[in-house]
Amino acid sequence: MLLGAPGSGKGTQAPALGRRLGLPHVATGDLFRAAVRDGSPVGLEARRYMDRGQLVPDDITIRMLLDRLAQRDAAKGVVLDGFPRNRAQAETLDEVLREQGGKVELAVEIDVPAEELVHRLSGRWVCRDNGHVYNEASNPPRSPGKCDLDGSPLIQREDDKAETIRNRMAVTLSSLRDVVAYYRSTGVLRQINGVQPIDRVTAELLAIFPADADAETDGSPDPKAPTVTDARV
Ligand code: AMP
Repeated sequence: MLLGAPGSGKGTQAPALGRRLGLPHVATGDLFRAAVRDGSPVGLEARRYMDRGQLVPDDITIRMLLDRLAQRDAAKGVVLDGFPRNRAQAETLDEVLREQGGKVELAVEIDVPAEELVHRLSGRWVCRDNGHVYNEASNPPRSPGKCDLDGSPLIQREDDKAETIRNRMAVTLSSLRDVVAYYRSTGVLRQINGVQPIDRVTAELLAIFPADADAETDGSPDPKAPTVTDARV
């Protein structure tokens, strides 16, 4: 399991870890986005919360996750990303896994200080005409303030402004701290420094997990598994 705030690089690292371990990468955010795309009842319900930037209620989230974990390709385990987001979710997951004879093997927190997270997220700019996305630090436009693709001015979305991000972040970080404390108490927590180049973080992450000798060669994806995005902020 990977733990980290939005902007910590968790969504970028999780697929690499899944490939290394030969396990599916299961991200609850991806499951919800797929449900929304499919127009399923879960998707319709979840969307009301996602659009407002709020957490989807625990009962819906947990049911959806357990359905995914019951699929055949998850039998040997998964790399979990985006779950749990609070202590109640963490405790429920442990209970369910215990009943099934499983457990959370390791919970790795990618640790990035709050101010750095605000800096990373507030560096995002989008172009006025078509919403093409740039980032001051990691993906700047060729000429400052102007879209490479259509030349329109770059603007900052209301919810990407530093003050708004700081407010949203306070709530998120407080739940994350609860989850981190929970896994510290159960003895499975590891922490790595997320303020390093991406490949350095990947190397430290992979070093924590015992490599499965068959994993990289036996990496054929399950056609029924949801697709994942390889790089998310
Ligand atoms: P993410 O891609 O992880 O940022 O998730 C996108 C959205 O899905 C979140 O803003 C929540 O609305 C919802 N979501 C994802 N994971 C969870 C979770 N574990 N508990 C509640 N809501 C979640």
